[in-house]
Amino acid sequence: MGIQQWVRRDLQTEPSPSSDALIEAYPSPEIASVAASEVSSALSPIPELIDETVLTSESSPEPVPLIPYSRRANSEHIAKMDWQALREAVVNCTECGLHSQRIQTVFGVGDLRADWLFVGEAPGADEDKRGEPFVGRAGQLLNSMLFALKLPRESVYIANILKCRPPDNRTPSNDEMNCCTPFLDRQIELLQPKIIIALGSVAARHLLNTDSAIGKLRGKRFTYRQSNIPIIATYHPAYLLRSPLEKRKTWIDLQFAVQCYQANHS
Ligand code: SF4
Repeated sequence: MGIQQWVRRDLQTEPSPSSDALIEAYPSPEIASVAASEVSSALSPIPELIDETVLTSESSPEPVPLIPYSRRANSEHIAKMDWQALREAVVNCTECGLHSQRIQTVFGVGDLRADWLFVGEAPGADEDKRGEPFVGRAGQLLNSMLFALKLPRESVYIANILKCRPPDNRTPSNDEMNCCTPFLDRQIELLQPKIIIALGSVAARHLLNTDSAIGKLRGKRFTYRQSNIPIIATYHPAYLLRSPLEKRKTWIDLQFAVQCYQANHS
């Protein structure tokens, strides 16, 4: 079984008419009934791993620092903000060109004391309208994944690298991500999550400062910057809507994340 072809984000977030069927094929209650038992045995060796999936610990991505971290002039100012100031700064931000076409900013949502942080790429059309990340079909699928992990959406924190929607859901540029990164950095500092799940290649590559393919980042435990916060990479729910066969790999990734989380708290 080979690595699946990656799909452009604009195609991912505009699901085909068959998406309803795909969501129906992955409903919360059913997968949860399967998932609960699988999660309960998450510390046991994961059986029958997909051929190319190699689960390892304390690995590092190839040191390919092609994506520089933010050089934004006011990064130091942002790094001192509390939640309220940070939220207001995002609402009023015009630092990159994406501000001109947004309906509203999408700051992030969830429990400010959450152990689990899920990070996606950028808001889509639904998120731009609602001002909340992962509320469209991809959000429904993420909710199903959380339900399967026995993590109510309200108990985790969900954010994106970018706080404004790229036009036509195009892939964000490095400049845009670097410009917006201080906000996510500060969210992570304030939140102090116990584990970060990078949803999709763009988020994973940016968080890990690498240009490695998502297939090479999956199944490994990385850490956020110089901290001990684990980062686990997996596929973006929008991609899974178009590639439902990859859901099994994502479930394996999430089991691995549970292992890493539990290992840090045993
Ligand atoms: Fe500001 Fe980020 Fe929105 Fe760009 S994407 S305008 S940096 S909040």
